[in-house]
Amino acid sequence: MKYCKKCLMPDTRPGIRFVDGVCVACIHYEKQHTTNWEKRRQELEKLCEKYRGKYGNGYDCAIAVSGGKDSHFQVYYVKEVMKMNPVLLAVGNIDWTETGRKNLANLSDTFNCDIISMIPNHHVTRILAKKALVEIGGPTWYADALIYAYPYRMTMKLGLKLLFYGEDVNYTYGGKYDEETPSALLQFKNDVVKPLWDKWLMDGDLTEKDLESTRQPTLEECRKAGLEPVYMSYFVPWDSYHNYEVAKRWGFRQLIHEYVREGTIEQYNQVDSIGYLINNWLKYPKFAHASATEMACRWIRAGMKTRDEMIPMVKQCDKHLDQGIVDAFLAFTGMRPHNFWSIVDKWYNPQFFRQDRDGVWHEKFEVGIGMKE
Ligand SMILES: [Zn+2]
Repeated sequence: MKYCKKCLMPDTRPGIRFVDGVCVACIHYEKQHTTNWEKRRQELEKLCEKYRGKYGNGYDCAIAVSGGKDSHFQVYYVKEVMKMNPVLLAVGNIDWTETGRKNLANLSDTFNCDIISMIPNHHVTRILAKKALVEIGGPTWYADALIYAYPYRMTMKLGLKLLFYGEDVNYTYGGKYDEETPSALLQFKNDVVKPLWDKWLMDGDLTEKDLESTRQPTLEECRKAGLEPVYMSYFVPWDSYHNYEVAKRWGFRQLIHEYVREGTIEQYNQVDSIGYLINNWLKYPKFAHASATEMACRWIRAGMKTRDEMIPMVKQCDKHLDQGIVDAFLAFTGMRPHNFWSIVDKWYNPQFFRQDRDGVWHEKFEVGIGMKE
């Protein structure tokens, strides 16, 4: 196990690559300093010009939103800076936080936009949460699939062409594709949502109809419809803390006034649902890092904190799965705590952890350094 020299990303992260000891996420972040943003902005202006007012008083474009800080930044940029008339497409949560609800409503209130919000099928969510925890250690597969499928489908149904997503996760944090591109046409293939439809249908608990809304349109369908899905992070410098600061100016609220999460170093990222965060935490048993590592790396890259400052915070936070997340998951799936933890045990990688005789897991690695045993 190796850590990036600059940030605290370990090479255990799926898809990450290192060049001379530095992770591609750091390399791609650095590239922002030499990017010609004026040129990119002109590209965005050209794109917007194509659709601004094209449908009379109708929507010019769609934005995929959650209500979070990045959504606020995107809507601010598209509506206030680019002067477009967007419709906002949201995939809702099963367990909204009050903060999340207010934030989503605020997008409409503060930016004067319509929101079309899709409520995921509770029956399917319940079945898939359990199945996906057992089978892939990723209980939010259903929600993730919807987030990648629904805005594409809805944009086409509305007869629109231009669809904005936030950041290109694959490029920014290292993944299958190394090329920076404005187009989000290949987003489906970025491995965030594994193609597991056949697996979910195997035991007959779910039908093709249950899963239809998670099916992403094919490349051919998108092209035929003339769809132009793009990443905002290609056109404007993308920094999550900066987005948060901008979002605050437009009424975005962080979670801390409602709930204090364990296991994260901030209370402003992914605050609209508690249960959804279970996926993020499961990276810890699997890959020896979770959301504290991810946020620490962003802060280090942005020069807000040093690597040394963040090591103790990551060490302290990543291992803790928030009790509220567990409660939400158990209440929703009807699982018992011991049953839940026994399933989680299966996702601990014995290469990075050892389990004592009472079932407690201990790290075999030292954050920022590597294996100690
Ligand atoms: Zn790095």
